[in-house]
Parts: sequence; structure tokens; C-alpha cells
Amino acid sequence: MRKPIIVGNWKMNKTCKEAVEFIEAIEPKLHDGATYGVGAPFTALKDCVATAKNLIIAAENCHFEDAGAFTGEVSVPMLQEIGVTHCIIGHSERRQMFNETDESVNKKAKRLIEAGITPILCIGETEAQFDAGQTEEVIRSQLSGGLAGLCPKCVAGMVIAYEPIWAIGTGKSATKEIAQDCCHIVRDQVRVMFGDEAADSVRIQYGGSVKPNNIKEYMAMEDIDGALIGGASLKVDSFEEIINATR
Ligand code: PGA
Repeated sequence: MRKPIIVGNWKMNKTCKEAVEFIEAIEPKLHDGATYGVGAPFTALKDCVATAKNLIIAAENCHFEDAGAFTGEVSVPMLQEIGVTHCIIGHSERRQMFNETDESVNKKAKRLIEAGITPILCIGETEAQFDAGQTEEVIRSQLSGGLAGLCPKCVAGMVIAYEPIWAIGTGKSATKEIAQDCCHIVRDQVRVMFGDEAADSVRIQYGGSVKPNNIKEYMAMEDIDGALIGGASLKVDSFEEIINATR
């Protein structure tokens, strides 16, 4: 049985004070039906970890090197030191705006797993690729690159977020059928690369305009084990509605 995992991705939002207030308000609403978490900006991570009891706290990026001349970057040991347990890698905004590649994502995944931090690996096609019927090819190729050289057990413990770029922040969410088909392809690619145990254990999220009014539809699909949620994770009210809808 895969336990669902619902993670908010705050992106470049929330000061420390705002982040702590959100966590204090949301903690009493959590229940055992799923694992809940938020991806917070680097500056707020330490306070978030100190405030959270059951909410998991994720970084939104990391560097694969431990230290060195990488101005503005944050390393995995730095995240480990403050008790961060999860880290989003390869988000499409980072791929599109900050030159993230399958190769760098792969290095980050390896370093995080070595440190005992769970990667939340994001993949997904652009609108042009979707229109051209290349979705499956893109998913398989991003996973071949992003997961290359990992051990089956490592992949089993990971989270993979399928997020079609055309659905992120657009309100144009994928239908539950498209989301299911694509998450099934994700699981199949894990099966091809790492075998049945990894494929049956890895948790796969759908992301892209997930809201309180559509979360249930996605969660009912066989290969969807949770969601990565941007806009609807920013307000306590809407995140609480999502928590209640996934009870
Ligand atoms: P959205 O963002 O829910 O606002 O579409 C999802 C994401 O970027 O992870």
C-alpha cells in the first residue's frame, strides 16, 4: 500500500513569519490519511522545520556539490544540518529559467539519497510537446536521465511528480484520464529501469492546477499517489480544504 503524499510548493513566496504562521495554522488540521508537506524558500526552512510536527518540510532546490565556488547555491549537507527531509528537484520553472537538466537533476538525486533526504523529482512535457504527441517520449527520456544509475531501493523510496508544464499555474489542469495515463507511463518506466518492487513502491504525484475541487478526482486514479500543489497551497483555507478532501 502506497501512502498518499500531498506537498505544497510555495515557490518564491512567504517570509519566515508567514511560513511559520501557516504551519501553526495547518498542523492541527493534519490527519493520517496522507503525508502532507510544503516546499519552502531556503530562508524559511530552519524556522519551518522547528515549527512543524507532522508536516514534512521540503527544500525547493539544492546543489549537487557539497561546497565550493557556487555563488548563491545551497548544498545538501546544509539542508541536512537543519533537518530538511525532502527536496524538490527538476521543477519545470528551474528547468526553463535556471538551466536545470536531466543530468544535473540526476546528480542532485544521487547526493540527496546519499544524505537520506527524499527527492521529489519533477518531470513533464511542454504544451508544444503535448500537442505534437510527444508526451510519452518526454516522460521516458526525463526519467531515463534523471534516475540513471540509482539503485532500485533508492527509487522505491522516492517521489516523482508528473507535472505537464501547460497545466502549471494556468488553471488548465489535465483531465484525470490524462493524468492517470501519464502517471502510469511514469510507473512503467520505473518498472523497465528498476523492476517491480521499485515501480510498485515509488509514489507518483500529479501536479498542475490542483485545487480543492479537483484533488479527489486525481486521488481516485490508480497510479496517482498524491499531488504537488502550487497556487492552492499558499492560503491556509485552500490547503485545509485539500487536506479535508483527502481524508
Ligand atoms: P500550480 O503549481 O498548482 O499553481 O499549478 C504546481 C507546481 O508548480 O508544482
